[in-house]
Amino acid sequence: MTSNSTDQANISADVLLTLDETLQFLGISRPTLYRWLAQGEITGLKAGKQWRFRKSDLQAYMARDPLAATDAPEELVAAEIAALKAALPNASDPPIGHIGAQTPGSIEAVFGAICDLAFALHASDIHLEPVRLADRSDYWLRMRIDGDLQEIRRIPNGLHASLNLCIKQAANLDLAERKVPQEGGIPYRHADMSFVLSVASLPTLHGESITIRIQQKERMLMLLETIGITPEHPLRSWIGSPSGLILFSGPTGSGKTTTIYSCLNEIATPERKTFTVSETLDAVIPNTTAIIVNERAGMGYGPALRSLWQHDPDILFIGDGSVAEAAQALPAFALTGHLVLAQIQAGSAAAAAVHLVNCGAEQFAVAMSLTGILSQCLARKICTECKEAVSMDASHPLLVHARELSKRGGLEMPAEFTLYRGRGCDRCRNTGYRGRIALYEAMEWSQSLVEAMQRRASVEELEEIAVSQGMVTIGALGIGKAIAGETTLDEVFRVCASRSQAML
Ligand SMILES: [Zn+2]
Repeated sequence: MTSNSTDQANISADVLLTLDETLQFLGISRPTLYRWLAQGEITGLKAGKQWRFRKSDLQAYMARDPLAATDAPEELVAAEIAALKAALPNASDPPIGHIGAQTPGSIEAVFGAICDLAFALHASDIHLEPVRLADRSDYWLRMRIDGDLQEIRRIPNGLHASLNLCIKQAANLDLAERKVPQEGGIPYRHADMSFVLSVASLPTLHGESITIRIQQKERMLMLLETIGITPEHPLRSWIGSPSGLILFSGPTGSGKTTTIYSCLNEIATPERKTFTVSETLDAVIPNTTAIIVNERAGMGYGPALRSLWQHDPDILFIGDGSVAEAAQALPAFALTGHLVLAQIQAGSAAAAAVHLVNCGAEQFAVAMSLTGILSQCLARKICTECKEAVSMDASHPLLVHARELSKRGGLEMPAEFTLYRGRGCDRCRNTGYRGRIALYEAMEWSQSLVEAMQRRASVEELEEIAVSQGMVTIGALGIGKAIAGETTLDEVFRVCASRSQAML
């Protein structure tokens, strides 16, 4: 036995596989197996005319040889393509994505079918993970749709190695490297729009796992109207001021990057000098100079921001306001005639102000420099295909809770209303939801908030003051959307719970 004793996968691995089982396990064709046997790449046992293979030997081979298993069995490939095509919803527009040159019936066509399905389902990312349950190995395909991870299929393990190689090749990753994480991208066109499939590979106990994020470059730069920021929205006057500090908060995947980029796209004109300082940049914003920070290279937020004083900026965007050096610099820039937009992770608008102080900004400076804070999140919309009214007694605990949350958040619920839900249908994959709406909580900074901040008021106090001055919280906005029949109370409570978890 040459197997690696630290590999838990081998505990139950000393099993003999037949030739057919071996072909499926390795994901190769019969001629390839014979070639490997002849070359001594793998060893088999022969009982009469029957070949048997030790599973542990095969696993050791898979772990050793990164280029093993390049050709997938034709029947498996054909069955997989058929299954993926059958999972397509009855969308009126047929998928027309392209991954290089696809030979019909090839493993590339399997990848192409996965991408087609992801686009048809409006998924934001594709997850492929090798999993082992009892005696069964699978390559688990899931997609995140409207923020929810949904199981799509269990792809036969025999396709794992070849599918991974195909994706890694398309993303320009090192095919021979399977022991360290890698990242790359695949340009992709769908419905006349350009996308990038950001591919990340990760070695796991049972093999390499792959996550693909679907990113549309153009989507990052939208008109503010398109993302629900009307001309009357307070954010419009905030970004219209020549100086001050605007904070943007919201959980990952809440669309806040899109909001910020769309703001910058609107205010960065050739007459103003605009810098963006961030760790990554998802889109090229016209009329801005992008600085990418890299702590390891000695170009962290501190040195980058210090040098900017010499470059006479008008507008600054800071990618992470929670880094101490950035937190300290934000109010200083804002109080000296610069318009500063910054991202900060916090559970609500009020929490963002307090968090900035906790991260190292001076309390007084924060109180004096703020113009406004926008906190946002996305709530799932009820599927219009299977929407139905639900009756709920006024004394139902959910309604009592909703009434309280709404009132505290600045919105009085009407006496009479109808709530809806999605029953679940093919169009929404039985989730009852399809698409999402953005909810924005806009905290306009005021003299009372300056004073409250200076006496170190709590997050709750700050929120109460803002609500008394007209702010509507995300919770209350969500309940308003539920009453309008766009979403459900359950969804609003889920969104609020995940926000309060993000609160520090
Ligand atoms: Zn539905």
